[in-house]
Amino acid sequence: MAHSSQVALITGANKGIGLEIARQLGAQGMTVLLGARDPGRGQAAAAELTQQGMDAHAVPLDVTNQESINAAAQAVERDFGRLDVLVNNAGIALDNGPASAISMDTLRRTYDTNVFGVFAVTQALLPLLKKSDAGRIVNMSSGLGSLTQNSDPGWGFAGVKPLAYNSSKAALNMITVIFAAELKDTPVKVNAADPGYVATDLNQHQGPRTVEQGATIAVRLATLPADGPTGGYFDEDGIVPW
Ligand code: NAP
Repeated sequence: MAHSSQVALITGANKGIGLEIARQLGAQGMTVLLGARDPGRGQAAAAELTQQGMDAHAVPLDVTNQESINAAAQAVERDFGRLDVLVNNAGIALDNGPASAISMDTLRRTYDTNVFGVFAVTQALLPLLKKSDAGRIVNMSSGLGSLTQNSDPGWGFAGVKPLAYNSSKAALNMITVIFAAELKDTPVKVNAADPGYVATDLNQHQGPRTVEQGATIAVRLATLPADGPTGGYFDEDGIVPW
């Protein structure tokens, strides 16, 4: 028999915004699968949500490891037969110096997680998302991935220009648009989310926003109605310029 509640997989869900997205989707009655590269951290996070009354399960998932991705996709297929929501949330920010000073290694490692990881996870889970009546893919981007905002010297974050991180999120935005275009005649919607500047380990808790606030737009995009948008880039207040 098909699993009755909706099933959501969130990558990098053992802490930060990802854990909060899982909590909010779980609170709506979804079965939430918490992707985590460290199984122990994933299990601890899932136990926390289970204690709060949610149907939460840890799924070992390192988005830079194809074997791990394949195993996670097989586990979802075996246990649930489909996937309704995929939130590509796992991300890293390694650079904070000028573009002229970053190493190829920093650029490559950033792209491995923020770009290639999202591509590989999306490709592996897409067959299961197509089995859903209302598949939703949310890619955790950033306002720092906007070419328009980065080109505006008057933008509030104009001075924040880590090349590896910002360009990885710009690439992720393009991946969002291209998957959405391929899937436009299916029920699957693909959108990019900008959570704002949120206090997490990623920025040594400097952001002024809470994880609850940061998760809001991703949760909204994960639960869009059939007439909702696809191929867009949104924050809590609406459309973000590409
Ligand atoms: P965080 O607290 O550092 O959480 C990042 C999560 O990603 C962790 O669970 C981490 O796992 C996981 N992760 C990293 N590499 C991974 C890999 N190879 N495979 C699987 N999981 C991996 O950061 P956050 O602020 O919540 O960030 C979540 C997303 O929001 C990221 O995509 C980030 O770029 C985006 N974002 C954040 C902000 C902000 O202000 N915080 C703003 C814009 C966008 P471990 O615990 O094992 O390291």
